[in-house]
Amino acid sequence: MRYAQSVADLVGNTPLVRLNRVTEGIAATVLVKIEYLNPGGSSKDRIAANIIDAAERDGQLLPGGVIVEPTSGNTGVGLALIAQQRGYRCVFVVPDKVGEDKRAVLRAYGAEVVVTPTAVEPEDPQSYYSVSDRLVREIPGAFKPNQYENQNGPRSHYETTGPEIWRDTEGRITHFIAGVGTGGTISGTGKYLKEVSDGRVQVIGVDPVGSIYSGGPVHTYDVEGVGEDFWPGAYDGSVVDGFEKVSDAESFAMTRRLAREEGLLVGGSSGMAVAGALAAARDLPADAVVVVLLPDSGRGYMGKIFDDAWMREHGYEVETVEPLVPAAAT
Ligand code: PMP
Repeated sequence: MRYAQSVADLVGNTPLVRLNRVTEGIAATVLVKIEYLNPGGSSKDRIAANIIDAAERDGQLLPGGVIVEPTSGNTGVGLALIAQQRGYRCVFVVPDKVGEDKRAVLRAYGAEVVVTPTAVEPEDPQSYYSVSDRLVREIPGAFKPNQYENQNGPRSHYETTGPEIWRDTEGRITHFIAGVGTGGTISGTGKYLKEVSDGRVQVIGVDPVGSIYSGGPVHTYDVEGVGEDFWPGAYDGSVVDGFEKVSDAESFAMTRRLAREEGLLVGGSSGMAVAGALAAARDLPADAVVVVLLPDSGRGYMGKIFDDAWMREHGYEVETVEPLVPAAAT
């Protein structure tokens, strides 16, 4: 019989697929790595297993322990999924700007969700950061993974994402392109690909306009999961050869095109990564092989990027297609 011992064994080994339509006019082969096929639905499943393994080895997480992390999305799902398999409880601290469906997903996996006000300073005792630090002090057996600083994050990508890409492209990859949030994905995958190719593979980060990584004024933006306003320890700039900067409007337009033209229902940071990759690939020769990592699924963004009313309210253009069935007839 062919089956996995547990859902945790299904993390990783995600496929590469070629982009065929949005790449019009580009000579290079552009492949995307579809991380939404991980069991928790994102690339963060990879780091969750590694972070928990390391915390068990170091004695930071003991039987009956509790994982406490400020996270609103993918990292929480990844941690909850692995924690559940091993009998740990999870408490996630989320700011109140995080939508009810994302909180509901975390609760569905058995996690406890503590909601904190968004509109307070980080030093405020009610803030996201203060509350999670207090809970770590107060809950017996609490362990805080701290994905922004934890080196087991980039290490998981060094050990799995990088080798998978090298294996699946038979060493023919020339460019690796990814969005940068904590920096774990680009740092770990990029380090492996640089080492195995003797520095031949170019590593390009994609960053939202307003984020710290690619320079320029730091301000808020709408795309989720990527960009920062501080330098996390999980980011290693020495493996990154350059950055492409992408606006929210370009990210969201490409996210919608990927669903309609490539059949890839992915999140906004995936659209951003592809928009950046196409800009970088524009002048590459036909023998270049570009691999772009797509972190999560579009299911979590139905009320935003895929909602025409939300898009218009936030000043984004949406393509209009004449309906086959006029509204009056329905
Ligand atoms: N996209 C999404 C949707 C994410 O949740 C994350 C993780 N914050 C990223 C991209 C970036 O990955 P990393 O933290 O490894 O840089």
